[in-house]
Parts: sequence; C-alpha cells; structure tokens
Amino acid sequence: MTSETSKASEPILQTLARSARTEDGKAATKAATKIVATIGPASEDRIGELIDAGLSVARINFSHGENAEHRRRVEKIRAAAAERGVPIGILADLAGPKLRLGRMPDGPRTLLANEEVRLVEGETAATGSVPCNVPGVLGALRAGHRVLLCDAAVELVVEGVHASHALARVRRPGEISDRKGVHLPDSTLPLEFPTEQDREHIQLARELGIDMLGLSFVSEPSEIERVRDATPGILMVAKIERLAALKNLKSLLEAADGLMVARGDLGVELNLEQLPLVQKSIIQEALKAGKFTITATEMLESMIEHSRPTRAEVTDVANAVLDGTDAVMLSAETAVGQYPVEAVSAMTRIARAVETSLRYRELPRVGFRQNEPTFSNATALAAAQAAEALDIQKIVCFTETGNSVRLLSRYRTAAEIIALTPNERTLNGMTVLSHVRPMNFARGSSLEDMLHGAQTLLLERGMVAPGEEVIFVAGVPPGVSRSTNVMKLHRIGEVTRLH
Ligand code: PGA
Ligand code: MN
Repeated sequence: MTSETSKASEPILQTLARSARTEDGKAATKAATKIVATIGPASEDRIGELIDAGLSVARINFSHGENAEHRRRVEKIRAAAAERGVPIGILADLAGPKLRLGRMPDGPRTLLANEEVRLVEGETAATGSVPCNVPGVLGALRAGHRVLLCDAAVELVVEGVHASHALARVRRPGEISDRKGVHLPDSTLPLEFPTEQDREHIQLARELGIDMLGLSFVSEPSEIERVRDATPGILMVAKIERLAALKNLKSLLEAADGLMVARGDLGVELNLEQLPLVQKSIIQEALKAGKFTITATEMLESMIEHSRPTRAEVTDVANAVLDGTDAVMLSAETAVGQYPVEAVSAMTRIARAVETSLRYRELPRVGFRQNEPTFSNATALAAAQAAEALDIQKIVCFTETGNSVRLLSRYRTAAEIIALTPNERTLNGMTVLSHVRPMNFARGSSLEDMLHGAQTLLLERGMVAPGEEVIFVAGVPPGVSRSTNVMKLHRIGEVTRLH
C-alpha cells in the first residue's frame, strides 16, 4: 500500500472504528431510527422475535384480508408487546381510493406497441374495450394524458375523449388483466376519500385501538381532517403516493402527524429516477415541519426469498437513515417472506451502524433553523442545544400528547430522548419517532415529584449512572397538554428540590 492510499483511508477507518462503539466504550444499543414491519401470515406468530430483533411499530394492511384476521393480529401484537414489557405502536393502512381496471371482457390481453385502445368507464365492457372501474374517469381524461396500467408496466396516451369512451395509443406495450391498478398522473379526478370500505375500516380501527392510520392515495388536507374527525386520538400518516399529494406536500404536512414516503405507488407516477431526490425532499420538509416520516417499500425486497440483503438494499436503508427518516418499513419481507426476523434484524444493524457514525452526527440539523414561536418549541430547541453543548446523552421529557417529544426528536441530537407519559395512546404513538424511547410514567402532582420519580425510575432500570448529567424537559403545571415551558439541567443523584 502506498503512503497516499493509507493516508486517504485513515478517516474512513476512524469512522468505522467509532461506529462499533459509543464513546464510553459500551456497544451501542440505543435505538434512533425505528423499524416498522408489516404483519402477515409469515410473521403473526413470531411477533415476539420481531420485537427482540428491533421492531418498534407493527403494521396491518387493511387492503388485504378479512376483519377477523386484522382483529386477531392486533391481539397478537398487543400480547407480544405486553409480554416483553415494551410499547409497540400499531399502524393500520386504509386502502383508500385505489383505481383499478374492471373485469376484462376477453380475459387477460396483451396490448401491442402503437395499438389503439378503447377505454370505457365501469366494471365490465363490450368485447374489444378496456373497462376502467373509476367513476368520472372520462370526464377527467384529456388528449395527451398518460394512463398507467399494472404499476406502470403498460403506458397509454389519450388521443381523444368521447361521450362513451376514450381512445388511447399504447406507448409501452404489455399484458393487462382483471382488477389491475390504474394511475392517472396527469388527470385531476375527484376521488371519494375515505371510501365506503375505508369507513368500515375506520370503525374497526377505533374498536381495536389502533395508534396510527396510514391514509393511502390521500391528496388534500381536507381528506385528512375528515378521517381525523372520525378517529379522535389516532395519529394520521399521510401516504405520499400520488403526484397530487406531492404537489400538496406542504398543506398535507400541516394537516397530518406524519408522512409515509410510499415509494411503491409514488414510483409509478414519477419517473423512477426521480424517486431518490423526492424521498430526500419529503423527509427534509417533514423535519422542518416537526412531523415524522416512514420510508417504505422494497427496502429489503430480496429478503422475501433470501436470508441476506443485497448490497444495494443495505445501501438504500443506510441512505434513508442519512436522509433523516424517523422509520424504515418492511412490507412483503415480513408479511409473507421467508425471513421476517432476519429482515428486521438486518434493518436494525444497518440503522445502528449509520447512527453511531461520525457522518450521521455531523449532518446539518435542519430543525435548528426553525423558529416556530411557541414555548414548547423554544424549550425543545434549548434542550437540544444544551445537550450538544454539554455532550449530554439523555434528555428526559414529560409529555401528555407527545407534542414536545416530536419537537425534540426532529433535532436528531446525539442524546436519546426518554419520553415519559401516563397516557397509553401517547406512549404507543411515540414508538415511531427517531431517537425516542417511550416509557410509561405516572403523572406527578408537582414538578418536583416528577423529577424525583423519574430519577428513581431511571436509576432502578440502570438507564442512568449516579453523577451522570441529564436534561429534564417538562411543562408546569403538570398534566396540561401543550404547556412545555421548563428545562432543567440535572446531575443524577443530586437533590431534585427546586426551592
Ligand atoms: P402500500 O403503500 O404498500 O400500501 O402500497 C406503500 C407504497 O405504495 O409504497
Ligand atoms: Mn401504496
């Protein structure tokens, strides 16, 4: 090896050396980026193992399966979480207004390049026509609009629209069949949201005490408000999977609690090569707004069949963590794959390797530039900056709604945020937040009681050492939501009295 190469590789080796251990030399165990895994036949009887491998949020997909199945899986998730004594959030995805073809009159059909196709509205069509089961589709199509079928495997371009049908030319040929997905990225189509089926699922979500609802194919903030009104207390996750949603990103961010970068469907409406940059922008906008993000789809796709991920997949998960996502998600890998536990543990290892690196620590903190003029935000900002300045490893935050914890989380400090709440909903809702360890904690009647109680709890659990410096963040008077207004720098073991 020449001296140039050994010099050049020095910083790289340093980064690697640091990545394996925390500064006090203990192996790094604290969780920053969270792991969401979809529960299905392959994983519903292995949830305890998934938790041990690093799972924080279990996802149920209402698009597939019967209500009895969803009910059974929620029970199994709650039982496994109770057995392990850790909070596990449950995210349930509503199917939303997914557009589909109807039933093909002549069975599966191959559309040839440049062939002219007759599109009609409805569940069925006369021989030779293609039924599009989307109410109002003919009114929304214009000449030049793209019609994407079967996850964009087939692409048509509209040439003319008539009263009873539209004529389109095949630009990308391929086979189409019954009920396959349809995307209309260029058309403005008033879609029903939530759909009739979603309304039933919303009812089920309330009954089952679901913590977060994934809103598929949402495009307008008013749609989020409509679901929120029907589901008080459930966190709203807007899935960004249509161009229309991307265009309304800012207003969706205001209305939602968090976003999913739903790369599967979004990748159909975008050119695929645009996805990586769009992912970065969505995550950055969410960080600025103090909302959480879940990066989803095909993250470890090859692990459906293989026990180890590909190099490209490992790099994809690592890059999502570097982008600043709160959580990374597994879909088919854990729902129907052969290696659900291995997939969760691979994700955990990838996330930990990145989070403990110097590179991750030195990322610009997008939140530090935000000046949301509230006491909660100013307190969170002060705590995050104090933690950096003093190299403090734990910020202990008392919270009723989780709001102040969400504001703290976005600063992505090196410190872990121990989020103490008496509210079970809040506890489970915080499981998705990066850097946050939610713990159950009875509400004290005074700030002094709470500081004392928290110190005792953390010492009992071995989470802090005597003499260790921590930061407490709280609201006085206790028990009032959105009242965070106190930061106390504290040395463990010293008196918690305030006067
Ligand atoms: P889905 O959503 O898995 O429910 O389709 C995520 C995505 O489209 O990426
Ligand atoms: Mn989707």
